[in-house]
Amino acid sequence: MASWKCGNCGYMLEADTPPEKCPSCKEKCEFLDNTCYTPDCEIEGIDKRI
Ligand SMILES: [Zn+2]
Repeated sequence: MASWKCGNCGYMLEADTPPEKCPSCKEKCEFLDNTCYTPDCEIEGIDKRI
């Protein structure tokens, strides 16, 4: 499971692969993988710096 963020509207979701269309802006967006792999954010697993 990875965390994805819509590069257009900032919508975040968790999935193995990002959806083709963003559920929020209903457009074909670029999804950024913001899964945090560093130990200091293992509680939430999301990198807030992105
Ligand atoms: Zn979007």
